[in-house]
Parts: sequence; C-alpha cells; structure tokens
Amino acid sequence: MKRTYLIKPVLHDEYPFITHGKGIYLYDDQGKQYIDGSSGAVTASIGHGVQEVINAMAEQSKKVSFVYRSQFTTEVAEQLAKKMSDISPGDLNWSFFVNSGSEATETAMKIAIQYWQEQGRNTKNKIISRWMSYHGITMGALSMSGHIQRRERFEPMLENYPSVSAPYYYRDANGRTIEECDDDYAEELEKEIWRVGKEHIAAFIAEPLVGAAGGALTPSDQYFRKMKAVCDEYDILFIADEVMTGIGRTGKMFGMEHFGITADIMATGKGMGAGYTPIAAAVVSEKVMEPILNGSKSIMSGHTFSANPQSAATALAVLQYMEKYNVVENSARMGAYLKKRITELAQTSEIIGDVRGKGLFVGIEFVEDKLTKKSFSRECDLVNRIVRANFEEGLLVYPANAGVDGITGDAIILSPPLTIRKEEVEELVTRFAAALRKVERELL
Ligand code: PLP
Repeated sequence: MKRTYLIKPVLHDEYPFITHGKGIYLYDDQGKQYIDGSSGAVTASIGHGVQEVINAMAEQSKKVSFVYRSQFTTEVAEQLAKKMSDISPGDLNWSFFVNSGSEATETAMKIAIQYWQEQGRNTKNKIISRWMSYHGITMGALSMSGHIQRRERFEPMLENYPSVSAPYYYRDANGRTIEECDDDYAEELEKEIWRVGKEHIAAFIAEPLVGAAGGALTPSDQYFRKMKAVCDEYDILFIADEVMTGIGRTGKMFGMEHFGITADIMATGKGMGAGYTPIAAAVVSEKVMEPILNGSKSIMSGHTFSANPQSAATALAVLQYMEKYNVVENSARMGAYLKKRITELAQTSEIIGDVRGKGLFVGIEFVEDKLTKKSFSRECDLVNRIVRANFEEGLLVYPANAGVDGITGDAIILSPPLTIRKEEVEELVTRFAAALRKVERELL
C-alpha cells in the first residue's frame, strides 16, 4: 500500500486517486470511471470541467486573486452580492461571504444574535434547532446540529440547541394525517419556546429538506408555514439552512421556495461554488440589516478569505452558467424522473422502505422489514454496505442517517450534478440497481 500523508476518513482502506473529471463522471488513476451520483458532498452541481467557469477563474486570476475585505471591495464581489440578491427570495438582499457552509450557518447565528442586541434585547441569544439536522462542523454550527455521531465526542463543549422534532412522517405518522403531524410539530416548537422563554431565543434554524441527518426528509407544503407562524408570534427569527438545498438542488433556486415562506436569514454554500472554489454566504433580509445598519453599521464576523475576488468570480460564473443553461429547470425535470425510476425500483426491492425528496435531491431509506419499518441492526452497517457496493459499480452516493437517535435509520441521497441528462439518469439507475441487488443477495 502506497504511504500517504493526507488525513482521510475511513470509508476505504485505500483511497482511489482521482485524476480528472468531466460532466457527471470522475476517473481514477486505474482508469475506472465513476458517476458522481452525489456531486461529492452535494456540491459539484454543474458537473466537472466546465470550460466557462475555468475561463472565468483564469481571467480573474490574471487581474487580482485576493484583496482583504476590510481594505477594499471589488467589482466582482459586488456583482456576486447583487446576483445573490436577485436570485434570493423576498427581501434577502444582503450577502456576507464566507468559505464553508459551517461558517455560513455560524455567521447566520451571530447575525441573529446581533439583530436583537442592536435593539437592546441582549438576552435573546439562544437558537432552537431540530433533532435530525446538520448545520456544520465548527463548534457553533455543531451546537445547532442534531447529528448525534458528529456531536458525541465534543458534547461537553457544545450548547444544547437541538430540541424539537423534524418532520419525519414515514415514522412519526403512525395513523395520523400529515396535517395532524404538522400541528404537533408546531405545538412542540411552541412548548419549547415557553420552556426556554421567548426572551432568550434569537432564532429557529431549519434545513428545508433535511440532508445528512435525515436522507432528504421532505416536509409537507404546510409544515413551514405553521412553524414560521409560531416564530413570528414569539418574535423569533427564522434561519433557513440552504447549504445543501440551495442553488437549484431541489428543483427551485432555494428549497424554501417550495413552501411559500421567506427566511429572515439564509445560509447557503456547496453548489454556490459548485466545487470550483470554497465559497458560502449568509444572506440577510432588509428587516434584519436595518437595525444593524442603524446601529453598529456592520456585522461582527469575518474571515480572511471573505469576499475574495477569485472565489467571487468563480461563483458568479457558476450562477451565470446555471442561468444560461436553465440548470434549475433541469434539476426539477430530471429530479422528477430519477425519483420516479427509484420509486419503481423500490416496488421490487426487499429493502427500500421510503423514497423522498424534491428535484435532484432524492432520499432513500432502507429497512429490514418494509411492513414494520424495522431498521437493520448496527452490525449490518447497511449504509456503508450500500455506499461500497455502489462504489464498486462505479456510482457515488451520499450516506445519511435517518433515526431520531441519529443512528438507527439507514438512508442515502442521490444528488447528481443538476446538469445530468436523461440517458445519464438511466445509467445511474442501472448501476444503483446492480449495487442494490448485490446488497440484497448478501443480506436476504
Ligand atoms: N448545513 C448543511 C445543511 C449541510 O448539509 C452542511 C454540510 O454538509 C453544512 C451546513 C456544513 O457545510 P460545510 O461542510 O461546507 O462546512
């Protein structure tokens, strides 16, 4: 085995070396081809090797790659901020650029706290979040996250923010209607606000569809309206974590657009740079910026690389590419097709319990018994089996957890580049079906 010095996760004993990528495909140094069925970590949204983006990167680096945000602004960073304002819903007009989704959600948290401080309401500094959520890996973002495995080791240092349920109708309904479930979720939020005290709560944070900690858990059309109404009633800001669902992933530019509500602050990342550069953003509404601009005048946060022109030019090129080629529409169309094909496959599969999601964000939950919805035992290590079997078939899928305890539910997400074509979806489904049959043969 070749000695390497890069600290890596533990999926493989030996990691393949990727040499290049084109469109939905990646190629390793042994000549093996992979379909990037997960866009990496739901990131490479326009596929690999897009020439327009590469050209924009080269052009910007010839001008200037870096200036410090405390000293200068640049035309390209301003253009990106304007573009974010144009594509964001409602009055989400102001952008604060950072380098990762964790920084985006943590910045959103800080902005929410500052918003209340500017109005003399200094006790409003807690965040309510949901079990079955992932908002990032840094301590503040992890404090808001209900991802048990990622919290465990650092629990003593974390705030205990996660406290209410996410909508998990597949297991929660138990004979109740979706409407009844939604009423219960909203009531749970209200009770939690009373328990903590509304004078202590700055914001409620939620992913439109839960990603890593849920496997594309998809709320009803009404769920977020009910949750937002509770937030409004108790003077609590609403933060939408669109790091995974934003920038076209769910078939609309932002996930919350499916549910008819606009957040006060939005975090976005991943698909914004589409893997061509690390960039993310906290996007802030006029409502939230107003007391800040009239008070301290700016946001108390920042990173060395915030708004650097190199990343700004890259993200701008990604967004322009998406507009030019109607990539969001393709996500909706191809997503519906992929979900239909996986739903058909589920009918003949012994272990697919639930298929969910929107656009090219398709979640699949696996169970040992489809009738009782009993999950596989831990020893079975089902998600890793599925990931590995797909890897062997040359298909990348994104692993997720789906249990309320963060460990019992086995789910994956299919989230290929939003530029995928119908025949490529078919190829993806063929490889997925082969991997699924292989795992089923091993288990049953
Ligand atoms: N928020 C959500 C919803 C995510 O899915 C992720 C990453 O998976 C993050 C935040 C953290 O983003 P990053 O890994 O870029 O820090």
